[in-house]
Amino acid sequence: MKYDVIVIGGGPAGMMAAGRGAARGAHVILLEKNDTLGKKLLISGGGRCNVTNNQPDNRLFLEKFPESNKFLFSAFARWNVQSTLSFFHDKDMPTKVENELRVFPVSNSSKSVWDVLHKYMEDGNVTIQKNSPVTGFLHENNIITGVTLQNGKTIQAKAFILATGGNSHPETGSTGDGFSWARELGHRVVDIEPSLVPLALNDTWAKKLQGISLKDIKLSLVQNGKKHETRTGTILFTHFGVTGPAILNMSNSVGELLPYGDVSIVLDLLPALNHKDIDIVFQNIYSTQAKKRVKNISSNLLPSAVLRAVSELAGIDVEIPCNSVSREQRKALIQLLKALPLHISHVLGLDKAVITSGGVDLKEVDFKTMQSKLFPNLYLVGDVLNINRPSGGYSLQLCWTTGFIAGDSVLYTP
Ligand SMILES: Cc1cc2nc3c(=O)[nH]c(=O)nc-3n(C[C@H](O)[C@H](O)[C@H](O)COP(=O)(O)OP(=O)(O)OC[C@H]3O[C@@H](n4cnc5c(N)ncnc54)[C@H](O)[C@@H]3O)c2cc1C
Repeated sequence: MKYDVIVIGGGPAGMMAAGRGAARGAHVILLEKNDTLGKKLLISGGGRCNVTNNQPDNRLFLEKFPESNKFLFSAFARWNVQSTLSFFHDKDMPTKVENELRVFPVSNSSKSVWDVLHKYMEDGNVTIQKNSPVTGFLHENNIITGVTLQNGKTIQAKAFILATGGNSHPETGSTGDGFSWARELGHRVVDIEPSLVPLALNDTWAKKLQGISLKDIKLSLVQNGKKHETRTGTILFTHFGVTGPAILNMSNSVGELLPYGDVSIVLDLLPALNHKDIDIVFQNIYSTQAKKRVKNISSNLLPSAVLRAVSELAGIDVEIPCNSVSREQRKALIQLLKALPLHISHVLGLDKAVITSGGVDLKEVDFKTMQSKLFPNLYLVGDVLNINRPSGGYSLQLCWTTGFIAGDSVLYTP
C-alpha cells in the first residue's frame, strides 16, 4: 500500500488535515477534483478570508453553536481559536481583528491563508493530485479499503479523510459528493438547506446603493408589525438586494418567516443617535449648506448616495436647495433614517449560500478523533458535518479544528 492516508477534497479542512497528518509522519495523498485547491477559501470573506473569530474562551466561542456545542467541546479542547492564531502567526501570517471579533490576515488576502496551508502540505511531502474527481469508496467488513477515481483507477490506503465540503457555491467544486457517499455507507445525512444567504429585495430604489457597505447598522426583522429579531452589524447593498454579515446571520430567520407572509428588515441607520440629535445635525447641515442642492449635501454621518436615496423616499425633491426643505420633510427624513424598511422578495438559493446547513449526523462521529463510528478508518471534517453556525469566521475555525484533529489522529487508526 503506497499511502497511509487519502484526503478527499482540497478545501481548508482537507488541506489542514493533510498537512497535519504529514507532519505526524504519515504518507498522505490529497485528491482534488479541480485544477486548483481551495477555490472556496480564496473567495471567502470577499477575498479577504475571515479566518476565525477572536474569542479565546472555548465556552463563549461555542455558544454560537447551540445545537452542536456538546459535540464540539472535546474537539476544541484540542484545537481552538488560540491554536489557529498561533498556527498562522508561527508561519509568518500576521492577523488583525476587525468588527465583531472577525480575524483577517493583515495582507487582506485569502491567498496568504492558502499559501500557509499549501506550504504546510509541501513541507510534509503531501502528494497533491489535482484534476482527480473521486467517484466513491470501496469497503469491506466496515473498513474502507480504497477510493475510485473518475478515470477508472482505484487508490488504496489505511485511512481516509472525507473533506469534500457542503454544496453551496457549487462552482467552487463543493457539489455535495461526500453526502451521497456518506449515505451509501449507512451514515444518516441531515437534509441539506442553504444557510447564511443573501436576500433579494422588492425595493427598486435600493439598487442605487449597489456596492455601498454600512457598518454598525441596527436591523430588526419584522412580520405583521411584530419584531422577531434584532441585531447590529454590517450590511452591503448589491445588484439583487442585500448581503453582508448582519444580513447573512438574519437570513435563516427570514427564510423561516417568509412562508407565513411579508417580511421586512427595518434598518436604524444611525443607532447611536436619537431623533432629536439627528434633527439638530440636519438643521445644521441644511443651514451651513443652505444653497447646495439636497442631492449634493455632504455629511460624515452616512455616504452621500444613502442620504440622497433616503431623502427621495422621504418625499424631498433632491434638486431643491437645502434651505427649501420644510420642517415636515426633515421629520420624514429622520423617521426613515431611524426606521428604513427593506421589503424582502426572497432568500437566494444554494448557489449564493455561504454554507449549507445539514450534513453527516454528529452522533455518528467521534469528536475526539473525527472518526466515523460506522467505519473506524474514515474521518469526517469541515462542511460535510451537520454543524450550523453564524457568519464571522466560525466556519473556517471548524475546518481548522476538525481538520487538525483528523490529521493528528489518523496515524492511530487500528
Ligand atoms: C462566498 C463565501 C464566503 C465565505 N466566507 C467565509 C469567511 O470569511 N469565513 C468563514 O469562516 N467561512 C466563510 N465561508 C465558508 C467557508 O468557506 C467554508 O465553510 C469552507 O470553505 C469549508 O471548507 P471545506 O474544506 O469543508 O470544504 P470546501 O471549501 O467546500 O472544499 C471542498 C473541496 O473538495 C473538493 N471536492 C468535492 N468533491 C470532490 C470529489 N468528488 N473529488 C475530489 N474533490 C472533491 C472541492 O473541489 C473542494 O476543493 C464562505 C463561503 C462562501 C461560499
